[in-house]
Amino acid sequence: MERNIVIKDKKELDLMRAAGRLNARALAAVREIIRPGVTTADLDAVAEEVITKNGAVPIFKGYPGPYPYPGTLTISINEELVHGIPGKRKLKEGDIVSIDCGTKLDGFVGDSAFTIGVGEISTDAQKLLDTTEQSLYEGISKMWAGNRVGDVASAIQQYVEQRGYLLTRVYTGHGVGRKMHEGPQVPNYGTPGRGLVLRPGMTIAIEPMVLVGTDKTRVLPDKWTVVSADGSLTAHYEHTIAVTEGEPIILTLA
Ligand code: MG
Ligand code: MG
Repeated sequence: MERNIVIKDKKELDLMRAAGRLNARALAAVREIIRPGVTTADLDAVAEEVITKNGAVPIFKGYPGPYPYPGTLTISINEELVHGIPGKRKLKEGDIVSIDCGTKLDGFVGDSAFTIGVGEISTDAQKLLDTTEQSLYEGISKMWAGNRVGDVASAIQQYVEQRGYLLTRVYTGHGVGRKMHEGPQVPNYGTPGRGLVLRPGMTIAIEPMVLVGTDKTRVLPDKWTVVSADGSLTAHYEHTIAVTEGEPIILTLA
């Protein structure tokens, strides 16, 4: 878990920032066309165009797994927590859709995700989205050098669980850099004061994955899509963050 940690210097952080910014632009382009009737393949195509037209690579595509991942995005609707594969499915009014994107530009990766409602969504769904998004920022607020992974993880956990929701124990945040997955792992649950000490130059994707009815998940027969075991709603937000000498910097903003 504490292996494969790569400290980035100033120049490398600038490159990470550029990759993160382009990733954010791809996600923004997707957000703009989300509406009932749009297929998930349409969303995927928009993100891929933004990334490739800017000389970058959609890093999820071909990612090793049960079979090479076929999309630029993972698109996960309602009970789908993460890793949903884009295709012919059309978004419907009232769906909540999680979009996760990874971009490799000039050798470095930006990784970020958000969940959004399609048209009008229920009050319950909106509360799930708001809680998940805010929990990400609660975690980021703890990403000061000298703090520990457990400080970040427990901030997310406490914010989410105090509001009656659950977090996956299976999927975690992770270091990110030249590769999409580096050390350290950052779970969405933990104990303050425990775990690896954060150091300047660490770059970490923080990604709360929140469930309503159970923290148990299963993988669909497509071998990628992860759903809540009870079919209840889920949400996912993610940013790539740099730990610095000062305040944490979000690298995946436009
Ligand atoms: Mg991601
Ligand atoms: Mg990630």
